[in-house]
Amino acid sequence: MQPNFKKFMLRTHTCGELRIENLNQKAELCGWVQRIRDKGGMIWIDLRDRYGITQLIFEEGKTSPEILETARTLGREFVIKATGVVVERLSKNDKIETGDIELKVEKIEILNPAKLPPFLIEDDTDGGDELRMKYRYLDLRRNSVRQNLLLRHKVAQQTRIYMDSQNFVEVETPVLIKSTPEGARDFVVPSRMNPGEFYALPQSPQTFKQLLMVSGFDRYYQIVKCFRDEDLRADRQPEFTQIDCEMSFVEQEDVLNMFEGLVRHLFKTVKNIDLQEVPRMTYADAMKYYGSDKPDTRFEMKFVELNHLVQGKGFQVFDDAELVVGINATGCAEYTRKQVDELTEWIKRPQIGAKGLVYIRYNTDGTVKSSVDKFYTEDDLKAIAAAFDAKPGDLILVLSGKADKARKQLNELRLEMGSRLGLRNPFDYKVLWVIDFPLLEFGEEENRWFAMHHPFTSPKPEDIPLLDSDLGNVRANAYDMVINGTEVGGGSVRIFQRPLQKRMFEILGFTDEEAKKQFGFLMDAFEFGAPPHAGLAFGFDRLVSLFGGAESIRDFIAFPKNNSGRDVMIDSPSSISDLQLKELSIDVKI
Ligand code: ASP
Repeated sequence: MQPNFKKFMLRTHTCGELRIENLNQKAELCGWVQRIRDKGGMIWIDLRDRYGITQLIFEEGKTSPEILETARTLGREFVIKATGVVVERLSKNDKIETGDIELKVEKIEILNPAKLPPFLIEDDTDGGDELRMKYRYLDLRRNSVRQNLLLRHKVAQQTRIYMDSQNFVEVETPVLIKSTPEGARDFVVPSRMNPGEFYALPQSPQTFKQLLMVSGFDRYYQIVKCFRDEDLRADRQPEFTQIDCEMSFVEQEDVLNMFEGLVRHLFKTVKNIDLQEVPRMTYADAMKYYGSDKPDTRFEMKFVELNHLVQGKGFQVFDDAELVVGINATGCAEYTRKQVDELTEWIKRPQIGAKGLVYIRYNTDGTVKSSVDKFYTEDDLKAIAAAFDAKPGDLILVLSGKADKARKQLNELRLEMGSRLGLRNPFDYKVLWVIDFPLLEFGEEENRWFAMHHPFTSPKPEDIPLLDSDLGNVRANAYDMVINGTEVGGGSVRIFQRPLQKRMFEILGFTDEEAKKQFGFLMDAFEFGAPPHAGLAFGFDRLVSLFGGAESIRDFIAFPKNNSGRDVMIDSPSSISDLQLKELSIDVKI
């Protein structure tokens, strides 16, 4: 939809608006000079704004000499206003919507000249990453980056529409708070008025949204900035946005349905995709069949465990392994020796760390060959192939070792094979709930239990007795939403009674005193009529980047940080004056 600019002083139309229907009309356009082609007798200028590009034309003999002269002084990214008449183009451009017309300029005004930009502001730019980040405001003029932000806007709008339709109230929670236990490091802010004391920026509004349930708000949401001081990866930013939600008087099932509804609404309104029912997979199955708690279900290639078929035949490596597990790379039997060697090297890289790779080739002529033929008969190999439902032409890839490690490594291999086989189209969306996460995980190094989600997550009622006997097997009413192998959201049913919350803190190694100091306010609140409640949060940046078909969230954030957590445009973080430090009671001499 094009806005009506008639009521604004400087322009009558946008640069994306004029069509053949506007022929012979007068128009005033404002925008940035993207390109100038001066062919002597004729000058063409591509004028750009947020809405598109319109071609301006100046013609020797027809355009007045003064205007021609002004046109010749223009440079890239000058901001101008052009007034003229809409005419039909001789050679049309079907790549842009205004491609049938051009504006025959009768008057031109330079609103502001511009220095030559440090990189081309076009779809294909010559600017490198750092340069584009330094001049992010110029990068944002580029079509692709602007589209990403428009997409983000749309997802936010549609989120609000859905949440409002379901009676959720958007409540803002504070940014200067104290430590929240999401498991990352906090960003802290010194308090001038309370020397030696610090606020922490929220890693999430978790405790506040739970308190809002105690307050009776019943359905809360917020599109909210969160902060985590973690080492950065391509898909992480120190500040990021969540769609944070909480509901009262609900069970896990209600939450899953409500937010499946949100995601369905977003797919429909933003991408015009009708989402099928979202399947559910237990954490245990996700690990067993995909070696990951966020399986990419765009393709099958499920794990098959082989211990019973391969052990006891004299092959030491398999005999010693806790787990022997493989995948069937369908149609890959033609892989050459070189290709398999290369794959073996790939999986032996330190980042993945497998010791080796065993393959079984189910040739198109029906014979079966493997890298461990010495130990297995053709019948043994055929039995293995049958376990994978393999067909002639398939290639089975097998890893072995400690169960956790082997699964992790095979997950990497599975994803790599999926990519190599073209099975991971970013616009083919597969949405999944992973449920029944363990409540706790054991940190070998720290020699203690950690909350897998966070300490406010409720154990499954039927598993509560295990809190006294078998911590590793307590399952939580916790769930993650996974799209195309990326975790886009997660949450849980919460503990809402003081004694269980207290017990949980004990298990996590908090002393009574520590628990009270950090979370006394929440446990107190639980004694003043806390309703049963549950919720979740979506990673908003991630969701938008998935809709945009991209892996990194950076291009979907207006002013992101680089890999060292820096904003190279405003040059932050930066030092502050001694006076400021003194006011904050911070002694700088480190
Ligand atoms: N606060 C959690 C998180 O940020 C989400 C939730 O449990 O609602 O991951």
